[in-house]
Amino acid sequence: MEVSNLLGGMHRAAIDGGVRERRDPGDRRRLVAVSPDSGARDVEAALDSAAAGSRAWARTPIACRLELLEGALRLLESDAEGLAYLTVLESGKTLEECRGEVIRAIATVRYQLGVASAVATDDFGITDGVAARVDRVPVGIAAVITPWNFPFSALLRKIVPALAMGNAVVAKPSELSPLAAFRIGQALVQAGLPEGVISILHGGGTAGAALVNDARVGAVSFTGSTEVGLGIARQTAGREVKVQLEMGGKNPLVILSDADIDRAIEHAVAGAFTAAGQWCVAASRVIVEEPTAHAVASRLAERAAAIRVGHGLDPASQMGALVSPEHFAKVERALALAAHDATVLVGGEPIHTGGREHGEFIAPTVLSDVAAGSSLLRDEIFGPVVTVESADSLEHAIELAGSSGYGLSASVYTSSRASADAFVAGVTSGKVSINRPPNHGDARVPSGGRRASGRGEGEGGKAGLCFYSYDRAVFVDGGESGLR
Ligand code: NAD
Repeated sequence: MEVSNLLGGMHRAAIDGGVRERRDPGDRRRLVAVSPDSGARDVEAALDSAAAGSRAWARTPIACRLELLEGALRLLESDAEGLAYLTVLESGKTLEECRGEVIRAIATVRYQLGVASAVATDDFGITDGVAARVDRVPVGIAAVITPWNFPFSALLRKIVPALAMGNAVVAKPSELSPLAAFRIGQALVQAGLPEGVISILHGGGTAGAALVNDARVGAVSFTGSTEVGLGIARQTAGREVKVQLEMGGKNPLVILSDADIDRAIEHAVAGAFTAAGQWCVAASRVIVEEPTAHAVASRLAERAAAIRVGHGLDPASQMGALVSPEHFAKVERALALAAHDATVLVGGEPIHTGGREHGEFIAPTVLSDVAAGSSLLRDEIFGPVVTVESADSLEHAIELAGSSGYGLSASVYTSSRASADAFVAGVTSGKVSINRPPNHGDARVPSGGRRASGRGEGEGGKAGLCFYSYDRAVFVDGGESGLR
């Protein structure tokens, strides 16, 4: 599929003519997209267009903005199956996972459209004859930069709240996933979004960096690796620009000895291997309170061995491919380390047989007895690899859970209220779940990380709308005129 940039309401090639080819991660013989490789000149043009478009959009009544965005959501919803299909081709995930991604993303932003008017103005009534309210005014131009693992959801969850709050948006999706982004742009144009209000530029880090570095940008919302995210934090320091960074994770799922162990194991399997582990909130570390650690590790390994791995469009597949040969090589390096630093209970190697000869497939992998201090326990692998550790007590489990330097999401499985409360109080992460996996979410609740996992207000919910605005306190003393 030929993909173009969306700029000034028109579909365009990159100014210098550069293109990128994208191949199907499940079968690299298949070319799935050719997209522009945008550079600094494209970013400049998109920001010129956004600067012109943002003023009128900010003045457009919020009810009109919301109606138009709801129209775009209806268009996307009517093509949910087509979108899921494209998302399989560019992400390598299974069709079922991609269907879930599309449906949940639309539900999440629809919730935000429902509460946006209430968020836009907070009216405190009249005290001593003076009316007080807080208006949330747009930041102007929002730059959004997204990764490849949730190509549809990551982009929609930024674009829609930014537009709802009255901003123009320049978006730069991952160079590995141009397809869903292209469709989102088409739907917004078809729904009638005015020229200049949305630009979608395809390309890589060069375009992303040019966007972040332009002083006209009032907010940067980035989802991606910690390395790039922290670079953005440095580049934007000292400027008046709001920054929301959703970065990596190494999420602990703790199973205490009083837990419903069967349920915890089922959740751990889904939490670790959904999206082949390429999920910031993947349950990549399972921490089990003794004396059940050994038994839990064996049962996890049994369940992992039974997962059917294959092309995302094959209805029999329960786990798909890794996103790219480069990422495959990175996960392979972690597996090579595992051969030294851990006991490989199952998996630990690529799969090149049974129709999977041309894709980036790695077997679901369970590791135990990992050497203390190994990077396998500290660093995000972003693949189908889960470590199992044992803890002597709840306190020890909490200490292990916080030992990676990330702070995205943590889970505990227990039947004790006191243990659950102690866990919630003891972990340092943006999200904590009791008897649910680290990837649990709710459209109403924002999610963001701490430490190496995030900066700024979380994404989603009302906070995700507030991020794209500034508070302006307004006082009106109408006096005799009755002005309010
Ligand atoms: P990445 O950091 O390589 O790329 C993310 C985006 O940043 C891409 O669009 C890329 O082109 C762009 N980019 C690259 N260099 C840039 C630069 N110098 N300036 C500006 N933009 C630049 O990440 P990825 O490999 O696409 O995604 C995987 C990572 O995303 C994982 O670490 C994962 O944990 C993280 N992630 C986090 C969340 C979350 O909510 N916390 C969600 C999904 C993914």
